[in-house]
Amino acid sequence: MANWIVTFKDRILSWFGIGKKESQPAEPEKTPIVEVARQPGLSCPECGTKLVISIASLINYEPVLCHGCGLELTIDQEKSRQSIESLRRLQDGLDQAEKIRSDNQLN
Ligand SMILES: [Zn+2]
Repeated sequence: MANWIVTFKDRILSWFGIGKKESQPAEPEKTPIVEVARQPGLSCPECGTKLVISIASLINYEPVLCHGCGLELTIDQEKSRQSIESLRRLQDGLDQAEKIRSDNQLN
């Protein structure tokens, strides 16, 4: 099986505008901020069921279970370390943004 987490990470990062943009044509920036709130997901490589995956579970190396066919997507810690690290930084950024937002609401 391909290292699915790399694909998933790239997709998440591009949602947040961090990913590589080389393969994309000059498109107007269409990624709305709403995307951030939406649960990132992945299609099951076996049956195509849409799987909802949280960044938090990934950075804890929790396997993803497909409720369609029962396939378990496990995370290869060795191969996925860099991807997980990127997601961890992203999550940190999101946490900070969330904190700043709630701080601002208090003031
Ligand atoms: Zn499946």
